[in-house]
Amino acid sequence: MGDRNAKEHFYAGLESNLASLREQGLFKPERVIASRQGAEVVCDDGRVLINMCANNYLGLSGDEETVRAAIAATEKYGYGLSSVRFICGTQTVHKQLERALSEFLGMEDTILYAAAFDANGGVFEPLFDENDAIISDALNHASIIDGIRLCKAARYRYQHNDMADLEAQLQAAEGKRNKLIVTDGVFSMDGTIAQLDKICDLADKYGALVMIDECHASGFMGKTGRGTHEHHNVMGRIDIITGTLGKALGGAMGGFTSARKEVIQTLRQKSRPYLFSNSLAPSIAGASLSVLERLSSSTELRDRLHANTAHFRKEISELGFTIKPGTHPVVPVMLFDAPLAQRFAQRLYELGVLVTGFFYPVVPMGQARVRVQLSAAHTTEQLDRALAAFRQAGQELGLLKN
Ligand SMILES: *Cc1c(COP(=O)(O)O)cnc(C)c1O
Repeated sequence: MGDRNAKEHFYAGLESNLASLREQGLFKPERVIASRQGAEVVCDDGRVLINMCANNYLGLSGDEETVRAAIAATEKYGYGLSSVRFICGTQTVHKQLERALSEFLGMEDTILYAAAFDANGGVFEPLFDENDAIISDALNHASIIDGIRLCKAARYRYQHNDMADLEAQLQAAEGKRNKLIVTDGVFSMDGTIAQLDKICDLADKYGALVMIDECHASGFMGKTGRGTHEHHNVMGRIDIITGTLGKALGGAMGGFTSARKEVIQTLRQKSRPYLFSNSLAPSIAGASLSVLERLSSSTELRDRLHANTAHFRKEISELGFTIKPGTHPVVPVMLFDAPLAQRFAQRLYELGVLVTGFFYPVVPMGQARVRVQLSAAHTTEQLDRALAAFRQAGQELGLLKN
């Protein structure tokens, strides 16, 4: 007999979990933006805010040229495919984008996905089994962790960014048929850049493959924006690159895996998020193609992003804030205390700056922060207005060392 109370228990259980999240201050509300994404956004309450928390590194999300390219691709190829790639969902624009990504990243071949989450979810299981070992940085992205869970390979985890522990795990994995080291190219919470030169040396020493997730790097890391492998001068030594079209490279959505052609062919035959999920919309494929052409013809956006990053990092430190040192456009401004991080973000909102507080469990206990992200779209004037708001909120809350 169906127990009507049993169903009610389910809903009441959810309600009580949500209430406890709210009580602990861990509930994540969503701000509603009524304009395009950009250096400034208009919220649904009409407020205009300087946006310092988007992954819009190159400023292309709301960019006119990108929007035009998406419209042109829609006109030519239609709105969607109503098919997965292997049935009747592959158009010229998908093949062009796969070629362009391969060339941009310096890899042999590329396969597109609906998201980088899917690229990571579908990369391990087709390539590795119980005879193999996957050696993963402890702070790798959730989608890498989930992807590894779907695969039968033995799992080894090394302490974040710790090369001695990576070597110990490689030794522990001795005897396995294939070994794969996997790391985020850049870690999004701290802006830490993986030590790919050392990782590649260790991989060579122990006969391991190397995979990097370039979601916070593709398009702007390295001299010509190819990514962390260019930054560390190890292009040609990386076996598998996964990345997103949803951050610097235009910001819509979509992901990819790039590797040697036998890897990509295997994924096309066996990767479940590819086989059982719809083709990337032509508007996204066309716009991404135009973004790659633009980035290949000029490093202007990438250069502006790094100039903005250097300016903001210098000025915010001089104001007396504690930041995590580094060079990446992710700038963690440390508050250490969760309620304080939230009050600070709220005060900045009132002062016209959009940032988000991050606290446990997104970052370790006692490491609460607001994560600032710079964009090529920010003008110096906007950055200086944001910095003035940081100074005022910092003074009011007694945060400044100086
Ligand atoms: C954002 C992100 C992803 C997911 O990318 P989507 O394309 O949005 O699914 C995967 N890995 C890392 C490191 C990311 O930062």
